[in-house]
This record gives sequence, structure tokens and C-alpha cells, in this order.
Amino acid sequence: MKPAEFGYHRPCEVSEAVALLAGLGDGARVLGGGQSLAPELNARRITPEHLVDITGIRSLRGARRVAGGVRYGAATTHRMVEDGLVPDAGGGLLARAAAGIGHRAVRTRGTLGGSLAYADPAAEWPAVFAALDATVEVCGARGDRSLPARELPRGAFHSGLAPDEIVVAVEVRSLPQGRWWGLHKTAGTAGAYASSLAVVLFDTDARGRLEQVALWLGAARETPVRLPATELLLTGRSAAGLDVAAVLPGVAQDLGTVGAAPDDAARHGLRVHAATVCRALARAAPVGRAAAGEGAGAP
Ligand SMILES: Cc1cc2nc3c(=O)[nH]c(=O)nc-3n(C[C@H](O)[C@H](O)[C@H](O)COP(=O)(O)OP(=O)(O)OC[C@H]3O[C@@H](n4cnc5c(N)ncnc54)[C@H](O)[C@@H]3O)c2cc1C
Repeated sequence: MKPAEFGYHRPCEVSEAVALLAGLGDGARVLGGGQSLAPELNARRITPEHLVDITGIRSLRGARRVAGGVRYGAATTHRMVEDGLVPDAGGGLLARAAAGIGHRAVRTRGTLGGSLAYADPAAEWPAVFAALDATVEVCGARGDRSLPARELPRGAFHSGLAPDEIVVAVEVRSLPQGRWWGLHKTAGTAGAYASSLAVVLFDTDARGRLEQVALWLGAARETPVRLPATELLLTGRSAAGLDVAAVLPGVAQDLGTVGAAPDDAARHGLRVHAATVCRALARAAPVGRAAAGEGAGAP
């Protein structure tokens, strides 16, 4: 199918885009890389009267270093991150995440801002930016605002952005040297969305035991979730040799199924998430030591 007719606008400035969205009202949609929007248009699941294409706004593309971190323009593509064309504030984590998104063609056009705004529960960026405690910058007709990336998704495919608001950037504090990161995506086939996505950050003590663990899971709930019980369970343990049985009680507690007599499907889901966490830990890499995309092995 082809999309229904729409007006096409390609502003050069954020202020122009915001004014257009405010003026056009509810019938207008922002167009980023089009990798999620275009299929919906083609299937006529949505029929906006106007599209405001923000990919011509140069200030939204690429990244720059800021005090203590990196500010990524919303129209920065997954491919730019994957290929190292922008600095990696996650010490390799961002490049690893980007490389796992869809296929190369999707990564060439899809953008960070589009992924955050789309708020797919199984997407990489919402979970990764939540784990990194990133800040999202938003511009709208009623002013600009910044909010923690973990607060942007309000539900499945619901970002809480007003119709005239645009994600303009995401700012990430650089992970310090010595901190470890791990990411694992469990998916049916290469290029598919995650059925589970674990992002873990941690320090290690002199004996290689985990400290200061931050663990986030995507594709488990409507929005990315933090796993505090599993973080506690992992603290003081060595990542090497951790198996599903060891991690499962924490994951079950965090996902709220302790004592709830889960059925077979729920039990299987928990095991998949626990296995995904184990793999993220097993492939974790320290900032500054690992090549992007390759873990250095468990500490
Ligand atoms: C085959 C296929 C496989 C995929 N696999 C994965 C995957 O494994 N993991 C994954 O994370 N993603 C995956 N995606 C989605 C991909 O990452 C998209 O790039 C992303 O979801 C949306 O980004 P976009 O720039 O293409 O946004 P668009 O498709 O242009 O827009 C998506 C939504 O966000 C809004 N929007 C876009 N930009 C902004 C902005 N800056 N501010 C406010 N609103 C905005 C649009 O109005 C629309 O509602 C896949 C897509 C395809 C087609």
C-alpha cells in the first residue's frame, strides 16, 4: 500500500519546525529517519495531513563533546554511532547497541531522537540511555525542557511528548575509566527486535567482584525497567560463572512474579531475561580497554 496524501515540510531550523508543528496542529507528525513512521504510513495505520521532516536541520545531526560527556543531536543516525563517526560516551556501549539495531539500511536512516520518541518497549536506545542516566532535550512551542531519558517513555509506543514537541538532543555523561559495561540482545533472528535486552554497568573491587551495579532490561515491560533486586544479588559476586539459576530469583523479584505462581510462558520469559542478563555480564567490557563491539570477558 501507499500512504495517504500529506503535505511535506522540510524546515532548516528547530524554531521553524516547532512553529510549523504548532501551526499545523494535531494533523502534523515529525518525520525523523522514517524507519518506524513510514511502515505505519504505508499501511495507513496513521494518516497525518502533514509531515515535518527534521532531518534537514543541521544542528540536529552529529554530536559534540560537552563538559563531562557528549551531546548527540536527535537526527544522529544509528549508523553514525555504529561507525564511530561520533564519540562514544559509553566507552563502546553505544556502538555495540547501534550495531544491533535492525539491518544496516535501517541504521543508515533511523535516528536516536526518532527511536526515543517512538518509545518501542523492545528498542535499544530507551534502555541504553536509561542505564546511562542520559538527559533528553526537548523543544516545543511552549518552551524547552530537559528530562531524564528514563522518564521519557510513558508506556508502550507512548513518549509523553506534546504534538508540537521535538526531541532535539540526548546528553550522556561519559562513563569513567575502569567502569564496565555489558549489553546483550536476545532476538529470534538477526535484525529483529529484542525479546529481551539487558544493559549492565558496574565497577569491580580488587578481587574482581561486582560493585555499583546498574542493570536495566528492555522488552520486559512497556518501558525499560531497572532491576534493583538483581543488582543486589550480583553485588559482591564475580561475573564469571554466573548462570541462569543464580540470577533468576533476582529477575523474578524485579519483574514482580515472586509468589505469583507464573505459568509456563511467564516462567520461560523470566528464564530468557535471566539468560540475557548472564550474557550481558559474560561479555562485559571495561571502558577504554575494549574495542567497540567486542567484550573483554567477565572480570
Ligand atoms: C525492519 C526494521 C527493524 C528494526 N529493528 C529495530 C531494532 O532491532 N531495534 C530498534 O531499536 N529499532 C529497530 N527499528 C526501528 C528503528 O530503530 C527506527 O529508526 C526508530 O524506531 C525510529 O527512528 P526514526 O528516526 O526512523 O523515526 P521515524 O520513523 O521518522 O519516527 C518515529 C516516531 O517518532 C517521531 N519522531 C521522529 N523523530 C522525532 C523527534 N526528533 N522528536 C519528536 N518526535 C520524533 C515520529 O513522529 C514518529 O512518531 C527497526 C525498524 C525496521 C524498519
